[in-house]
Amino acid sequence: MTDTATTSNAGAFEVRPNPAPTSAAARAEALADLRFGVQFTDHMARMQWRKDEGWNDRRVEAYAPLQLDPAAAVLHYAQEIFEGLKVYRWEDGSLHLFRPVANAERFNRSARRLAMPELPVEDFLGSIEALVAVDGEWVPGSEESSLYLRPFMFASEAFLGVRPAHVMDYLLIASPVGPYFPGGVKPVSIWVATDYHRAGPGGTGAAKCGGNYAASLLPQQEAYAHGCQQVMFLDAREGKFLEELGGMNLFVVRADGTIETPRLTGTILEGITRSSVIQLLEDDGKKVVERDITLAEITAGIDSGDIAEIFACGTAAVVTPVGRLASESFDVTVGTGDAGSVTMAIRERLTDVQYGRADDVYGWMHRVG
Ligand SMILES: *Cc1c(COP(=O)(O)O)cnc(C)c1O
Repeated sequence: MTDTATTSNAGAFEVRPNPAPTSAAARAEALADLRFGVQFTDHMARMQWRKDEGWNDRRVEAYAPLQLDPAAAVLHYAQEIFEGLKVYRWEDGSLHLFRPVANAERFNRSARRLAMPELPVEDFLGSIEALVAVDGEWVPGSEESSLYLRPFMFASEAFLGVRPAHVMDYLLIASPVGPYFPGGVKPVSIWVATDYHRAGPGGTGAAKCGGNYAASLLPQQEAYAHGCQQVMFLDAREGKFLEELGGMNLFVVRADGTIETPRLTGTILEGITRSSVIQLLEDDGKKVVERDITLAEITAGIDSGDIAEIFACGTAAVVTPVGRLASESFDVTVGTGDAGSVTMAIRERLTDVQYGRADDVYGWMHRVG
């Protein structure tokens, strides 16, 4: 599966340089102490859409607070979508995105579900290339670090009536991030939510929208209260089948080497990491099955030793081993409780492609600097 190459219209973005950019010394200091999503680069890219006019006002300008009318529709009805992807710095200093066209296409699927206008793929790519052209020095070069990109679109029309807004703002901001697990990959513990769901049939589960995250925060708090770091959601209809975590997809590794992941039902977010992991595993000769997986067979399989590893995956944390699964009625250690070998191998396979240490046989990487 090769992602279609698409041209970008980075040149259409008018650059208004930040009059007071971060000094090289202050930037170096910031890049030496990376945490997730707290530090932002000097610029942001933006565009605006108006009904009847379409997309206009392509700009790269100083990163700054927005002016928003208190009646802006997003603040009342949550008409908002986002994406998340990274710029990787290779050993030779060059800068690369991983499957950005897949993010652009998913952004448009999310837009359709939230009754928002689609954004041409060349604008999505163009905004990224235009921003990286001015803020490329913010891409860290230390191990497993990257520049996290957050494209998002929201309803900015000042109007309290309930209908799709006639004005939308698209913005792209960027944040240098370090390894998700400073000091090495550590297995996470997961609380299985039984009283709450993140998505239901016909809802917005397959769209990347802020509202899904708002709904996941209370169960997430419940997970923390039980000493767990993440929540696993089950299907809303029967409360029986594994779906995913608040922001990561799930995989199960059986002792016989078969790998399973919940099939896409419309309530699960189709992760780009998920589909890449499936492809890499299959190409390595592993059997990957996408199907409905019950929680009962997971707990039984962990007890019997039939399930050897569980891992979660997504752009931010890449591939994360799951060491423990708990809920009101059980608390089990997965395998040895440590990161399993299949999990760590697929993690390395994927990051080797992303950081240019392995051949990009799929055409997944997209150079931006
Ligand atoms: C973004 C996201 C993922 C992971 O998607 P990637 O494309 O792999 O980053 C998984 N689940 C949810 C709910 C998400 O929002």
